[in-house]
Amino acid sequence: MSNPDQIQRIMFDELDIRGVVSGLQKTCHDCFENHDYPTAIKKVLGEMLAAVSLLSSNLKFEGRLILQAQGQGNVRLLMAESNQDRDVRAIARFDGEIPADASFSDLLPEGQVVLTIEPDKGNRYQGVVPLDGKTLAKCLENYFISSEQLPTQVHLASDGEAAAGMLLQVLPAEGTGEEDWDRISHLASTLKSSELLELGNETLLYRLFHEEQCRLYEPDDVQFKCTCSRERSLASLKLVEKAELLDVIAESGMVNVNCQFCNAHYGFDLTDIEALFSDATSATGSKNVH
Ligand SMILES: [Zn+2]
Repeated sequence: MSNPDQIQRIMFDELDIRGVVSGLQKTCHDCFENHDYPTAIKKVLGEMLAAVSLLSSNLKFEGRLILQAQGQGNVRLLMAESNQDRDVRAIARFDGEIPADASFSDLLPEGQVVLTIEPDKGNRYQGVVPLDGKTLAKCLENYFISSEQLPTQVHLASDGEAAAGMLLQVLPAEGTGEEDWDRISHLASTLKSSELLELGNETLLYRLFHEEQCRLYEPDDVQFKCTCSRERSLASLKLVEKAELLDVIAESGMVNVNCQFCNAHYGFDLTDIEALFSDATSATGSKNVH
């Protein structure tokens, strides 16, 4: 496959085009292992993970990039996110039977894809990607062309166990070189999903662009890493009525919160809940319950 669990930028000498290729193997395994996902869900989530890892290569600040897909069918939510260090995670919410051969558009009838960029400091940006392409890759291409006027080509592939992706995009600079883009995008359009999953990055580059002046940058690692924490789990309980939480504690002694991404378990006792709803912001002195 593309170099597993790495992203690698592609540099075209003297062309205003950027490229990046990503491969996820252990990352997919780690994202999926705590969940009993049907194959079709794993394939689409794999593509979404590959997509956020590609898009994170352009994050120029500390923060998160989140891709969410919602539809009116059995699949309520698919979500994948990456931070600037390419720590990625993903989640799916669905009901009932999911056919093994269901495609992205089958899974999300009347759906939409939302791309959120959330800096740790500064304003959140959100763009809605209409689900007007048959594939996630087509949706993202349409998004970049319509909202940012940047000719873009996206390839995503996933077999449910591993995923890979490639993104090529005109740099938002002088806007020169339409012929260059036509040539490069034409060459890349011959890429097959099987090649993306099976070929290493050097081979892939040679296969597509051996007549071009281009090379690969040093790779960066991609990994599954959940950003949940005890503090954030406790803070999320602020959305619940205090009386309701006190009832739970009266009944079972603890309020238990499970992280939906990594299954980490956080338990909160009366002291924690009192502290949460008082002015005190810290919840020290309490312990993790496993
Ligand atoms: Zn977690």
